[in-house]
Amino acid sequence: MPLVSKGIGRYNYVMKPDLLDIIVCPLCKKRLQLTIEEQNEQEIVTGFLFCSECNITYLISDTIPDLLPPQAVS
Ligand SMILES: [Zn+2]
Repeated sequence: MPLVSKGIGRYNYVMKPDLLDIIVCPLCKKRLQLTIEEQNEQEIVTGFLFCSECNITYLISDTIPDLLPPQAVS
């Protein structure tokens, strides 16, 4: 089971290194490449998730990964 259940009551999950196993690109469903800019003991605070398939970078800010594609204009 995913590791998100540990007392996190928000609907947004906090970015932990383990989450890389379950976070995929919302567009192509492939694994993302993680670049860490700032990290504390448990969480990645800021960084990037990169999809080499779509060539899109997703930002992580305040431990929250923003998985909306930058050009998500419908
Ligand atoms: Zn992708």
